[in-house]
Amino acid sequence: MSTKTGPQHYPGASRTHWYQDEYGGDAMEVNAVVLHTTEGRTLPDYGGGASAPNLTAVPDLAAKKLRWYQHFDIETSSRALVNESGGVETNALNVCQLELVGTCDPSTHAKWEEAGESHIYWPEAPDWALRGVARFLAWMHAEHGVPLSGPKAWPAYPKSYGNEGGQRMSGAEWNDFKGVCGHTHVPENDHGDPGAIDFAQLIKYAKEAPDAKDDGQDEDWTARLTGAFRRWTGADRS
Ligand SMILES: [Zn+2]
Repeated sequence: MSTKTGPQHYPGASRTHWYQDEYGGDAMEVNAVVLHTTEGRTLPDYGGGASAPNLTAVPDLAAKKLRWYQHFDIETSSRALVNESGGVETNALNVCQLELVGTCDPSTHAKWEEAGESHIYWPEAPDWALRGVARFLAWMHAEHGVPLSGPKAWPAYPKSYGNEGGQRMSGAEWNDFKGVCGHTHVPENDHGDPGAIDFAQLIKYAKEAPDAKDDGQDEDWTARLTGAFRRWTGADRS
């Protein structure tokens, strides 16, 4: 099976926090995206990369934009999931992992609000942040064929921890999964992030993203995505 086909760097993402030289990872042909929330307010150092995802999106609240950092190639396995020996593969099972800086925990959200610490509470993410994530998913769909679909159940934290919401996939379901899911859905893992992110809206925005104009992305990115849109629909945009 071929691996690592298509572009390996998300346009516009900084590679100043690159961990692939230290943690080589496995080459994959990605067919899924796993979303996380960092439960912090700034770019984590991930223990020097030991628990890093492929990418981190850091909200710039003043500019209303996501600032992207890439830590591994799109199709090199990253390290933000637990992987038990003897079970299914997790990090290395053809997934590209994205950490969203902010929280999915309502108690953390309340604490930060109380302290006046600005942040994104992802279950109530502002439109610009959701659209920023959606553009990435649209790119993953156009360039890597990741389906713009995923699990139905996105329980709120803390019900999303463990499997109290009944949302976590079995090993067999995970092995067959293609699309977009959360850490909360991955077997061998307990974490409940990204909680009740508005998945339906995220997917709706991702499907609209190729038509996004004047959205703050650079022209090169827009041109690439327009080209991808033509390839994928066989149609010109009007
Ligand atoms: Zn996580």
